[in-house]
Amino acid sequence: MVKAVVGACWGDEGKGKITDMLAEDADIVVRFQGGANAGHTIVNDYGKFALHLLPSGSFNRNVTNMIGNGVALDIPQLVSEIEEVVSKGVPRPNIVVSERAQVLMPYHRLFDQYEEERLSDRQFGSTKSGIAPFFSDKFSKIGFQVWELFEDDRLKEKIENVLEVKNLMLEHIYHKPLLKTEEIFATCKEYAEMIKPYVIDSVTFMSKAVKEGKTILLEGQLGSLKDPDFGIYPMTTSSSTLAGYGAIGACIPPYEIKEIITVVKAYSSAVGAGAFVSEIFGEEADELRRRGGDGGEYGATTGRPRRMGWFDCVASRYGCRVQGTTAVAFTVLDVLGYLDEIPVCVGYEIDGEVTKDFPTTARLERAKPVLKVLPGWKQDIRGIKTYEELPENCRKYIEFIENELEVPIKIISNGPARHDIIRR
Ligand code: GDP
Repeated sequence: MVKAVVGACWGDEGKGKITDMLAEDADIVVRFQGGANAGHTIVNDYGKFALHLLPSGSFNRNVTNMIGNGVALDIPQLVSEIEEVVSKGVPRPNIVVSERAQVLMPYHRLFDQYEEERLSDRQFGSTKSGIAPFFSDKFSKIGFQVWELFEDDRLKEKIENVLEVKNLMLEHIYHKPLLKTEEIFATCKEYAEMIKPYVIDSVTFMSKAVKEGKTILLEGQLGSLKDPDFGIYPMTTSSSTLAGYGAIGACIPPYEIKEIITVVKAYSSAVGAGAFVSEIFGEEADELRRRGGDGGEYGATTGRPRRMGWFDCVASRYGCRVQGTTAVAFTVLDVLGYLDEIPVCVGYEIDGEVTKDFPTTARLERAKPVLKVLPGWKQDIRGIKTYEELPENCRKYIEFIENELEVPIKIISNGPARHDIIRR
């Protein structure tokens, strides 16, 4: 049984928490896209963790955690995350890495930073983790798959060829120090030693796991609106954030992905630049940011304050639709307990017309939110275990949003901890 846990909007919906919880009954958790550019925060019996690359099943002894071929593999980052969780008392996680995953090279971070510097006020708001240069290289066929780290002669020759172009760019576009083959080769050999214990033939591994009926969770990073095809292009990420990409990035037959659990947050937040129709500002935003998530809405990787907004039905319905959602996990609902009234965005007004369909980027940037105000419940709902026990206005909020999303909300998260969950 293969399930995907993915995000509906801009990311930070609480996928880590939902995956960590579902991993209790899973055999394998796979990261199938993205890299170490975003993070997920997990609170469980071992403490609080900000993971970037480690799959969220890493806290469960019985789970094999795989870095799939679709991931931008930052080797030092992965190894340091493993050591970090171990140092905090977590049993050493069972990690495997696809031999076909590509390696984030040290210069990918540099190019990310240099390009953002060059763009100056036109920049993408990159986390400068090297993701965009990494995926450009992958599809320009000048990236390095993990197995290449172990083939010394061809590795050296390829580095030399790749650096020819990189150095032209460094010299003439960015005016930065040049790269040396010997140094990059030496770093690659260090990477090879670091990653060696984890490397597997993931295609054989996965096909066997699927055949044996193992419970496999595909863990997405970011959300639908950051997808390079369906998101707010070009203010998106560089690898697909959709469950469907799990078939590629984890090597799973597409028809085996039976459940697509899309994580939807009870209000909106976004990082980086780009259109955000239901965004709020000032004290109203500051208060939601302070109370949001678990200890405030600040980026797990960058510490940047997140942009805040009311729940956006248009964006979230679209986000669920492009994921192919079979069920929604509705998260961080407890945070809204302080509000007398809760506005939600139910439509976009664009050029004098109201639409409920999510538009392409230029029209999106002209959209103004059409808000509907729902009554708040003015109560702390943490600790509640059944749907019926939730305050009436809280249930009404959930049911209103469920109706707008056009997919059933089956999981409700009312606190950051693993078992702050209501099933419906
Ligand atoms: P991810 O990238 O989708 O995994 O999301 P993040 O981990 O970046 O952001 C979610 C934040 O909300 C984290 O700080 C979680 O601990 C926290 N969180 C998750 N679910 C809940 C919830 O139901 N209530 C509260 N208060 N916090 C939650």
